[in-house]
Amino acid sequence: MTRSSERPTPPEGLPSEVIDALTDCTPEELRKAIVHAQELLHFHGEAELPISAEANDDILRVTEHEGYTEVVKQFRCADGCDDCPHGPYLYHVTEEPHPNGSHKVHWSFMGPVHSQEE
Ligand SMILES: [Zn+2]
Repeated sequence: MTRSSERPTPPEGLPSEVIDALTDCTPEELRKAIVHAQELLHFHGEAELPISAEANDDILRVTEHEGYTEVVKQFRCADGCDDCPHGPYLYHVTEEPHPNGSHKVHWSFMGPVHSQEE
């Protein structure tokens, strides 16, 4: 229990059995857990990713609106799968200012974007 003070606080709402399982994971296992969590998000039809576009994200369109930014993007899994690339999906991106001066970027998944040619 000496390590408890070094541990980050888990997000509110995360079940304690998940926290316990992740706490016991090696870094290697944690990376795999992230990949699997992303796959599960795809399965549920939603995904939330940081605005700093990762190498496997393709930003197709960015439209500024008052109060939010509309982003259309598709992305590929880290390991790739038969359905890659996923999307395109529509996101509304908002920035929430924090007291320490930084901004927290929040991606809201709005849904899949259907091609006009369909
Ligand atoms: Zn995939």
